[in-house]
Amino acid sequence: MGEELKNIKDRLRDVLSSIKSSLKKVSRKSSDCCLVAVSKTHPTSVIKEALECGHRVFGENRVQEAQDKWPDLKSQYENVELHLIGSLQTNKAGDAVGLFDVIETLDRPKLARALKAAMDKSHKEVKLFIQVNTGGEGQKGGIAPKELEGFLSYCQNDLELSIEGLMCIPPVDEEPSVHFALLHKFAKRHGLHSLSMGMSGDYEVACQFGATHVRVGTGVFGKRPPFKP
Ligand SMILES: *Cc1c(COP(=O)(O)O)cnc(C)c1O
Repeated sequence: MGEELKNIKDRLRDVLSSIKSSLKKVSRKSSDCCLVAVSKTHPTSVIKEALECGHRVFGENRVQEAQDKWPDLKSQYENVELHLIGSLQTNKAGDAVGLFDVIETLDRPKLARALKAAMDKSHKEVKLFIQVNTGGEGQKGGIAPKELEGFLSYCQNDLELSIEGLMCIPPVDEEPSVHFALLHKFAKRHGLHSLSMGMSGDYEVACQFGATHVRVGTGVFGKRPPFKP
């Protein structure tokens, strides 16, 4: 069947089975990596198809868009785990803490302080991943690799934030495995257990390099409708 003709149920099943077989190649269990289904720009009607299949872990990249879609979905479906995978402005930290269960894009001290304050205020604990700019790209979010150690220490020791793991988005024109291996090395060095890496084009590779979370949008939902501001 042509990729575009498949329904979400089939795509979801295919992606989950590819994750499983990629993990198996390196003697990892299927429970070792979680599929974050990236639903950005998709309407709730489409997201509901995945929820009806029993999938519960989703990723969105914009706070505002997620606020428009997810409060209702979260009230209709239990045990949803929502990940923020896009850059977060400090002034939206409170909103993000209110809605998301995992924030994967912590990348600067000011944001760490804002998230800490928002969690204290709301008495809600959100899981945090530090985004690392492994490719050293100017316009991209993420902390520079050489600043990771200091930033991690600032988060953990000064702010007493619990850091779950690391996240990266490799440069589009580079071999992703180099970046996955680097992120894996950083996590190991700092005793962090979770690694969010791999998207539709490279999640199978990421699984073999130790990903505990892969963020797959197109592979699950098909081609994305354009973003409407
Ligand atoms: C959109 C997005 C994804 C998913 O991309 P696909 O190629 O559609 O799987 C993964 N991670 C981040 C940070 C994204 O913004």
